[in-house]
Amino acid sequence: MTAPTRSAAVEVHDVHKWYGANRVLRGVSLTVRPSEVMVILGPSGSGKSTLLRVINHLEKPEVGYVSLDGELIGVRRQGERLKELSERAILGQRTRIGFVFQNFNLFPHMTVLANVAAAPAATGLLRKAEAEELARTLIARVGLADKTDAYPRQLSGGQQQRVAIARALALRPEVILLDEPTSALDPELVGEVLSVIKDVARGGTTLVVVTHEIGFAREVADRVVFMDGGLIVEQGSPAEVLDNPRHQRTREFLSKVL
Ligand code: ADP
Ligand code: MG
Repeated sequence: MTAPTRSAAVEVHDVHKWYGANRVLRGVSLTVRPSEVMVILGPSGSGKSTLLRVINHLEKPEVGYVSLDGELIGVRRQGERLKELSERAILGQRTRIGFVFQNFNLFPHMTVLANVAAAPAATGLLRKAEAEELARTLIARVGLADKTDAYPRQLSGGQQQRVAIARALALRPEVILLDEPTSALDPELVGEVLSVIKDVARGGTTLVVVTHEIGFAREVADRVVFMDGGLIVEQGSPAEVLDNPRHQRTREFLSKVL
């Protein structure tokens, strides 16, 4: 087993994940470099969400490991447990990874301000007043200063997702994972969310984005990864993967989403 490298923000090494007989990830290896924007494409059921959940410790791989900034997240090989991190270590690492879900997952009973300030205050990263000050800055950055005291139900889907992105930024994560962040939105709201994600990307945060928005991938991604059947079929620059795919499965997928 090769040692994880510090020059990688996230390193996924030969990860296998299965549910009973359903082999969902069948040996996925991936390196996300600091400040890189990676877009993951692939048909439904190909294992994209599971991969993000493994990176964020929401699922444990049966085989393989993930490291964050050179630090191991969990080590297993051939089912054998080589090292297990404590719950505390896992929680500590999870605060360094932001996660944005398809369905926003805001706290419905909390205002926009409270949603964004909650994590840095609860984890003891910042005092409440500091957390709120940071939250106000981030809420303004996603263009929602006038909604600071609103509740999620008073916002459009696009606005809710922008709050979710501000909330992810509040922990100053080393990487943010976004799982189909615009899939639940009405078409006219997709653009505002993509433009916030672009702004975050330009700010240098490492991003891993699962999306079917090919235009976004072309414009923003440093690297595009195509998955199918629990495997990475190919990866490369947007021009390589989107304009000159090497594999038939990639071509078939692109012909459906383009
Ligand atoms: P994608 O995000 O690419 O659509 P997923 O990672 O969500 O794919 O799912 C890949 C496969 O894993 C699917 O066959 C799905 O049914 C299965 N799967 C995902 N999560 C679970 C789970 N918690 N229990 C059992 N099967 C699961
Ligand atoms: Mg998914």
